[in-house]
Amino acid sequence: MAAVDYDAPRTAPTEPETESLDLLQERRERKTDDLADTDFADDYILPGFDVLDEELSTTVVPVQPDEFRCGGCFLVLHRGLHAGVHRGQDICRDCA
Ligand SMILES: [Zn+2]
Repeated sequence: MAAVDYDAPRTAPTEPETESLDLLQERRERKTDDLADTDFADDYILPGFDVLDEELSTTVVPVQPDEFRCGGCFLVLHRGLHAGVHRGQDICRDCA
């Protein structure tokens, strides 16, 4: 079973992994302590998260010309799923 050597580190939480995490956290805490609330401390927060958050909140896709918002389920759907108009509102096939 030679593959065990390769699989073991992935399936079980290994010491090196947890160790490095602890080290990172320790380091971050120390930096935050030393630098208090300086801007530099912000660099130690994983940069990806903020960017992701911003993208999620700013990426608002308007209803496209070939789309409509269903008055029943309030989903924006493709015109191909348009079933008709009910009480002045577009209705999709699912809600019709
Ligand atoms: Zn619907």
